[in-house]
Amino acid sequence: MHETSLIDYALNAVEARASQMGIQEVAEVGLVVGKAKAIPGLLERAFQIIRVKHPRCKEAVLHLDMREIRMQCSSCGMEYEVEDLMGDDRCPGCGSCDCRMVGGNELLVEYFIPRE
Ligand SMILES: [Zn+2]
Repeated sequence: MHETSLIDYALNAVEARASQMGIQEVAEVGLVVGKAKAIPGLLERAFQIIRVKHPRCKEAVLHLDMREIRMQCSSCGMEYEVEDLMGDDRCPGCGSCDCRMVGGNELLVEYFIPRE
């Protein structure tokens, strides 16, 4: 499952950082994830499964900040949001198909909070 490796990757980064900072236990993890990258429900489920592999994060709570998929039209420069990448992503301004994704592919650890 794609989401599993994303969560594993993010938690590895949190573990490494927490270790450097001398943090024994992480209470909360905040991730910024683009909607083109993963499905929120699957991320939640993957987190429940994967966190036990990471000693500092095994009881952590996940907070997801999902970012919209944003496209920019190369013809008229208009920026707009699309629900997913399967549907019609033509420019609503001029109807051009010459568009590129400028947002929605993020995956970053926004923050993590140590347990007191
Ligand atoms: Zn356009």
